[in-house]
Amino acid sequence: MVEEKVKSIIDSLSHAVTDNFIETISLSLANVIKADFVFVAKLNPEHSLATTISVASQGKVLENFSYDLKSTPCENTSNGEVCTHIYGTQEAYPDDQLLIDMDIAGYVGIPLKDSQDHTDSILVALFHKPIKDVNEVTSLFLLFSGMIKKEMEKQKLITELNIRNEVIEESKEAILVCNKNLKITSVNKAFTKITGYSFKEVEDENPNILSAGIHEKSFFKKMWKSIETTGGWSGEIWNKKKNGDIFPEWLSINSITDENNDVAYYVAFFFDITKRKESEAKIFKQANYDLLTGIANRFLFLDKLSLAILSTKRNQSKSAILYLDLDLFKEVNDIYGQELGDKLLIKTSERLQSYVTETDCVARITGDGFAILLNNIESSEVIDNLVTRILIGFSKPFSVDDIFLHCTLSIGITTFDNDTESASGILKKAESAMYHAKDNGRNSFSYFTQDMQNIVRHKLSLKKQLSNALKNRSLSVVFQPIISISEKKVSKFEALVRWNNDGEWISPVEFIPIAEEFSLIKQLGEYVLSEACQQLKKLKAQGFNDIVFNINRSVYEIPLNKSENDQWLVMINLYGLSPTDICFELTESALAPDKRNNEILFNQLRESGCTIALDDFGTGYSSLSYIRRIPLDYLKIDKSFIYDMSTNQDDNILVSTIIAMSKALGKKVVAEGVETREQLHELTELGCDYAQGYYFAKPMNSEEMQSYLTNFKYD
Ligand code: C2E
Ligand code: CA
Ligand code: CA
Repeated sequence: MVEEKVKSIIDSLSHAVTDNFIETISLSLANVIKADFVFVAKLNPEHSLATTISVASQGKVLENFSYDLKSTPCENTSNGEVCTHIYGTQEAYPDDQLLIDMDIAGYVGIPLKDSQDHTDSILVALFHKPIKDVNEVTSLFLLFSGMIKKEMEKQKLITELNIRNEVIEESKEAILVCNKNLKITSVNKAFTKITGYSFKEVEDENPNILSAGIHEKSFFKKMWKSIETTGGWSGEIWNKKKNGDIFPEWLSINSITDENNDVAYYVAFFFDITKRKESEAKIFKQANYDLLTGIANRFLFLDKLSLAILSTKRNQSKSAILYLDLDLFKEVNDIYGQELGDKLLIKTSERLQSYVTETDCVARITGDGFAILLNNIESSEVIDNLVTRILIGFSKPFSVDDIFLHCTLSIGITTFDNDTESASGILKKAESAMYHAKDNGRNSFSYFTQDMQNIVRHKLSLKKQLSNALKNRSLSVVFQPIISISEKKVSKFEALVRWNNDGEWISPVEFIPIAEEFSLIKQLGEYVLSEACQQLKKLKAQGFNDIVFNINRSVYEIPLNKSENDQWLVMINLYGLSPTDICFELTESALAPDKRNNEILFNQLRESGCTIALDDFGTGYSSLSYIRRIPLDYLKIDKSFIYDMSTNQDDNILVSTIIAMSKALGKKVVAEGVETREQLHELTELGCDYAQGYYFAKPMNSEEMQSYLTNFKYD
């Protein structure tokens, strides 16, 4: 009997497919044991609630339902025990409303256990009438419970697999699977999206269909070696899309082995890293290139220089760097504004790049400083040629916003071969040489020597101290009288700046050029003029009304832009003085045409009433034509000629010529550095108008001026 029943159940199951297996077995069991209801229910983890997954009744599958387990026979079953009631189930569980509603008499419940022996579901049969053969029902249930359980697990697995497949399919990462013969067996959506290939187009193809042809054979050799030995590889690789575009991707490949540990599949995951590469490139660019000019910055230059040092050592070759600094860039910036200054820097970088080849590196290493790295130079002629070309090139003006700017360069050069020096050390050498070139009057070049470096070090430290002295107004001004020979009286005082640097007197001959070079001269000039104005005001208040003060002005103080020409006059007015009280002394370099608006400035100053003296006359390359063109009142013969005039015939002739010429041009002559009675005598004979020098007085401080004036006696 039982065998027949088992057979009929198995027969019914042979037609069942996974989808409805549990429903089929429930129906079949209900039919065979003549139960009014047979159901399979899953338990929640707390075992407080059961939810049916199949309910069979009268040959039909009913709708699933959930019910509370508390005070039901199923509560016992869910605790892992077989529970049977042949009849009187309602009476035994009076709180179980469902039993009443369904009018149940007999009950058989079997726990279904998972692999860890935990009950996670139950198989239940309900009978309206008392059960005829409860043992048979129980044995059949126990017999098939394993099968039901297996099926449930299978279904769970299938669901999980479905989810997993979906994950693979929906993954943002492209996934490609190929078999051990390297034939593609599946790809996901992201693969199609990234590469443009559908699965059909790549099925059974070798994955090298994606190869961009960029990597060397050795690259793939390494990759396969890693897969063979470690089971995987990951890294950046360039691949090709269906449309031919080449793109970077991050690729991970894993081999999957079968039970014999033989490779069965290779699974490749990859994603497009174009965006990441772009932002990496952007960051690299920001860190290594100058934002304004787009050329390499100091950081990258030093990096390339370090490599060059290594390579010269290895190849026993010679390389060089040029340190190029724009002359007077700060002035351009001050006068025309930073925007124009920026444009000039861009043009400079473009011009510099046009002189070098691609293997040389041009970099912007300071605000207005550039550097060029010349790799593997065959002879120093190469450098000389380049430097000459650059200097000639920069003698042509730049046209920026319709303004023509002359912007020359000072170039420092250092070569290196088997050097032990660091990159920054070599750059420093070139910088020292550049400062030396600046000392040579700018617009020139200079090769590095060790002496230079020492000089530069000293200069840079002086610059720092001078800058502080200007801030603290710890400079002072002294005054040296200028005597009118014909009137035999003190006519003027020349203001001369003094600097006591921590107890040590530093000569203006040393620090004025530093002030000029490091753009401190304007500040210094303003200080001297304001000090002089104050002292002159005091003298006037004491009744010395017709004294003129001579103020030295550097050529670098002449504004490039004529809109700033009246600054000097503004200061004079500020102290309630008249422009006629001041004479400006300028050296011959201030006369050079084209450079600045010197001619306009001198005219403006003279129109307002100031006088102008040409200082150190005879030492520069004065051209008589300049002297004629530029409006001047006085020529100051340089003290070196006066010093030698009594002993040196040539100097004597020169002085007399200067005096004669000045008279012809209508200029007054001042002799500087008059130290002896003989000198004064000779100058008087030659018709010199004024004399200045230790013979009359050394420069004095402001307190001494009044008594000097009061007690002055010409003889
Ligand atoms: P400078 O304008 O030719 O000034 C004359 C220099 O000759 C002064 O030197 C002065 O002290 C010196 N001297 C005067 N009489 C005699 C003499 O009889 N014999 C000798 N051997 N020397 C005499 P100092 O003060 O050392 O100034 C040197 C230079 O520094 C000046 O030459 C001038 O070019 C520059 N300098 C001085 N003060 C200023 C300033 O306020 N602004 C600017 N831009 N330059 C200044
Ligand atoms: Ca002077
Ligand atoms: Ca002088």
